[in-house]
Amino acid sequence: MIFLPFLTVLTCAVAVEPVTLIASTVIVKSSLVFSWLSMIVAQVPSWLSLLRTDAASTFLQMSEPLAELASLASRLSSVATFAAAPAKPPALELLVGVSEQPPSASARHTPAAMKAREDTPESLRDKELATLAGEIEGCRRCARLVAWREQVARERRAAYAGETYWARPLPGFGDPAARIAVLGLAPAAHGGNRTGRVFTGDRSGDFLFAALWRAGLASQPTSRARADGLRLHDAWVCAAVRCAPPANRPTPQERDNCLPFSTRELGLLPGLRVIVCLGAFAWDAALRLLALAGRPIAPPRPRFGHAAEAAPLLGCFHPSQQNTFTGRLTEPMIDAVFTRARELAQTAPPAIGAA
Ligand code: SF4
Repeated sequence: MIFLPFLTVLTCAVAVEPVTLIASTVIVKSSLVFSWLSMIVAQVPSWLSLLRTDAASTFLQMSEPLAELASLASRLSSVATFAAAPAKPPALELLVGVSEQPPSASARHTPAAMKAREDTPESLRDKELATLAGEIEGCRRCARLVAWREQVARERRAAYAGETYWARPLPGFGDPAARIAVLGLAPAAHGGNRTGRVFTGDRSGDFLFAALWRAGLASQPTSRARADGLRLHDAWVCAAVRCAPPANRPTPQERDNCLPFSTRELGLLPGLRVIVCLGAFAWDAALRLLALAGRPIAPPRPRFGHAAEAAPLLGCFHPSQQNTFTGRLTEPMIDAVFTRARELAQTAPPAIGAA
């Protein structure tokens, strides 16, 4: 009997043992499985990352042949554009024979194709002229002339009271392929300084452009405003000083400040042969700008006169009212100058720019 409690406990222990063992086994195994699952879950992001990298790499590898195909297609498309050219490299003629068609719209409008089409010598020259024009229009170097051109614009003449004056310097105007340049003194306060185009909107301009029209160098005999439709053919008109000066008299310093603009502008006209100088001031300025451009006229210094010639210069009295009203300069006189200018334009060597 004394062993009865002990036997009872032992019996219970033996009975419970399998349950305990099973439970502990299940717990241990579950822990292991859970641990494995945790490890697996923890590795998923890196596997995914690797998977993505591999996939990207695989995609890139697969796309290389596609890129090659695209490049080949592009080259074949380029070859097709040779069809429009008058002469083709012999090796390409076989290919062109089977792809003789206009380039596709996309090929015509690729940046490279558009740039190649734009960058002609003419377009580059036009861009340079436009850039220079912007530079000229923004110039404020001569304090006296800046103050004057703006004062005139504020006060205005009664006849133009409702207009907004240009009140800035004036770039040249005309045909970039011109062989004949016409060089004046400076813009008129209520002419070019008002309208924004040289010799436009005043009596001097009326006389000059009518003469250019009779000579076949202008599309119409009048020059009223920048948007009046006037076109010049084979002619370029500009002034030695680009701002309107008080009393039409620039100082020597103002002339020298401004001459580099005319030198550069006329240097951008590769066909230029003749410079018609309107008055003694323009004649003197032209001699100086030729020296600036590295094309000085050999001494002795040629004197200005109406119809005077010192290649590439050709003199003409200025078409100011003072000259035209008094008969010092008549229409037949200025017509004879432009007739001579057209003759010289046929035979003279380039004046400044390369032909
Ligand atoms: S005159 Fe010529 S240099 Fe002087 S402010 Fe006018 S544009 Fe400039």
